[in-house]
Amino acid sequence: MKYGTFLSIIAEHRLYVVCACGHAREVAVSDLIERMPPESRLCDALARLRCCRCRRRGAVDEVRIYWADGDSMRAREDQVRAALKKT
Ligand SMILES: [Zn+2]
Repeated sequence: MKYGTFLSIIAEHRLYVVCACGHAREVAVSDLIERMPPESRLCDALARLRCCRCRRRGAVDEVRIYWADGDSMRAREDQVRAALKKT
């Protein structure tokens, strides 16, 4: 599976997103789905996230995906980071 994971696939999960300025926040994937077009991918959503501290958009430094049981999936996290570096 590539980094372009559809949000709908991880709808039950939460993201822990760290901005380049160091500000961290948690986002429910279901909240992102409500604001994004259908079939949006995770990297699309991250590119549109705006930091509430520095106001930059898509300045994501780190992402962790939490499953329902609270574990993060580090392989996926690395894929997302690689995706952000490409754009
Ligand atoms: Zn920021």
